[in-house]
Amino acid sequence: MTLGRFAPSPTGVLHLGNLRTALASWLSARKAGGRWLIRMEDVDGPRCRRDLGEAQLRDLAVLGLESDGPVLWQSGRSAAYREALAALQRADRLYPCLCTRKDLQLLASAPHLEDGLRPYPGRCRDRAWEGFDRALRLRLPPGEVAWQDLLLGAQVDDPGALTGDPLLFRRDGCFAYHLAVVVDDGAQGVTEVVRGVDLRSVTATQVRLQEALGLPRPAYAHLGLVAAPDGGRLGKRAGALGLGSLASQGIPVLELVGWLGWSLGCQDRSEPCTAADLIAAFDWARVPKGEVRVPGAWS
Ligand code: GLU
Repeated sequence: MTLGRFAPSPTGVLHLGNLRTALASWLSARKAGGRWLIRMEDVDGPRCRRDLGEAQLRDLAVLGLESDGPVLWQSGRSAAYREALAALQRADRLYPCLCTRKDLQLLASAPHLEDGLRPYPGRCRDRAWEGFDRALRLRLPPGEVAWQDLLLGAQVDDPGALTGDPLLFRRDGCFAYHLAVVVDDGAQGVTEVVRGVDLRSVTATQVRLQEALGLPRPAYAHLGLVAAPDGGRLGKRAGALGLGSLASQGIPVLELVGWLGWSLGCQDRSEPCTAADLIAAFDWARVPKGEVRVPGAWS
């Protein structure tokens, strides 16, 4: 049975791009007659806040998107992450990384690969094991990873060239994004990962980590981003495009859902509707592959 999930980081307000991803993952799971979970990815230290996560859950509920099971908060999952690290160490796949804090910051949190971010060059790759109180990286095997993206079709990436050996544990004691996401998708039995195309470039790395942990590979769909009306990046404006500020501009929730549904190819025009109204028409073959632009009146 299909099990989809939406996995936001509770570091701010969910903007239109996040809401679109949430709706697409929910629609895909519902269309398949499957289940859908929300997971709070709050492993990224002080930037993650419980109250922001609770507010995100309220916004999702307003759209009609509620988790079919308990919401998993990653901050409570340390034992599972530690166990996964131990398994990787037994298989001789981990090495300590003593690179500078600056290197670690670049690669640690949810890695929307920004300009200037380089794959880890493997400087510490041959270091001998020194225990679990070091920053730890996964030794990637050479070679490319191929997958069939539900939206983008056949994809091939070389994880070594994109991220290099991923950081799994940080010197400050935090578990890194790649480890948490892969362990939890496996533990929850997620079969379908729908997320923004800004995370497409980490998929091959996460597949390698799944393989190293003996976990099954979910299906992936990487959605185009939501852009400004002129096609530029939303950037700072994204923050103003949350449910609360759209509501205060007088935009009814059903209008927003209708627009999101239109942007996902479920309706020909942006007509107000509920999320449930969109299920029957949802079809990955009709979802636009590229970016969508926010209506000028909203931004
Ligand atoms: N928590 C990540 C984010 O906020 C998404 C992780 C995922 O969907 O794999 O972008």
